[in-house]
Amino acid sequence: MTSVSDANLALSKILDAGSKKNLIELGWIKNVRVIVPRSIITLALPSFANSQRERIVQETKQILLSFEDIDDVQIELENNISQSDTKDESNLPDLQKIKGIKHIVAISSGKGGVGKSTVAVNIACSLAQLGLKTGLLDADIYGPNTPSMLGVTEENPRVTEGTGNDQRLIPINKYGIYLVSMGFLIEEGQPVIWRGPMLNSIIRQFLYQVEWTNLDFLVIDLPPGTGDVQISLAQSVPISGALVVTTPQQVSLQDSRRGLAMFKQLGVPLLGVIENMSFFIPPDMPLKKYEIFGNGGGETLAKENKLPLLAQIPIEISLVNDSNKGIPITISEPNKESSIRFKELAQLIKKQFID
Ligand code: ADP
Repeated sequence: MTSVSDANLALSKILDAGSKKNLIELGWIKNVRVIVPRSIITLALPSFANSQRERIVQETKQILLSFEDIDDVQIELENNISQSDTKDESNLPDLQKIKGIKHIVAISSGKGGVGKSTVAVNIACSLAQLGLKTGLLDADIYGPNTPSMLGVTEENPRVTEGTGNDQRLIPINKYGIYLVSMGFLIEEGQPVIWRGPMLNSIIRQFLYQVEWTNLDFLVIDLPPGTGDVQISLAQSVPISGALVVTTPQQVSLQDSRRGLAMFKQLGVPLLGVIENMSFFIPPDMPLKKYEIFGNGGGETLAKENKLPLLAQIPIEISLVNDSNKGIPITISEPNKESSIRFKELAQLIKKQFID
């Protein structure tokens, strides 16, 4: 598998037309990330090298695409910088903690519709019910639906006083959790077209320009899959741990595997697997149990990756109904089977990081 050092070595063949020095040596290739099959390169060219920009971008792409396992190259261009700024740039991104936040837990899934947001919202509520100060950052740009799950669709978040960079977004407090959502930025029904650098700066705003009060946990609801948001986040803040939500179907395993591989490559610690929609117990026939979506998905994924299967959450009719009404099941019906599982999950997370 192509590594960052393979990519660096190959890219060191690109030369500055004037000095004939290679771009790595000059610090013009500022950051090289390889998350197979994608590679993301940050170029930081001094303004006097602007005339070479097109050629450098083309050569960078060509070189990386010549690796068999890379088929997507993204180039990020940093603002022009003076040459004195280009020395000793490290290829490792600096992780920057968010002031006041003790632990960040990311909730991910290989594909959409498996219940990732439902799990994120209910874990956040359960952590809050345990008396922990908890925030929820909905970073799912493709379907930011935590505001509707928490019934905050009508409210607009306020900002602090001040201007420009001094202003901070104030999270909305609901059911004891502090919510900030990408949904606050996106008009309903509008497609999301942010990619690469723009998305990166939006994510950073959501992390650092929010008036998070002191939090024990910030739960992040990631978009499904392995895209720019996951990479930007993992390279911005130290994530304490990621949870992967999957369903019992064996067919969805391939996407989940890709997700797990990405976190490993990004150096994010994995806490375990959560299998959602594991079984259905008809409310009028409590002794019957139906495995509607098959079985074994969560267990297989966990075993393959030597991770614990932390919970199996049943299909519950009231989970959908309550969620549609804007009340998470852990708040409206704390004694339901799934609420109990969410509570146990929250206790596990607490035990891992706080106790
Ligand atoms: P994702 O974030 O993975 O796209 P959502 O959390 O939005 O998925 O869930 C998709 C749909 O499935 C929602 O309508 C949600 O209410 C429903 N759902 C999620 N988990 C369960 C469950 N355990 N039982 C019943 N319905 C569920």
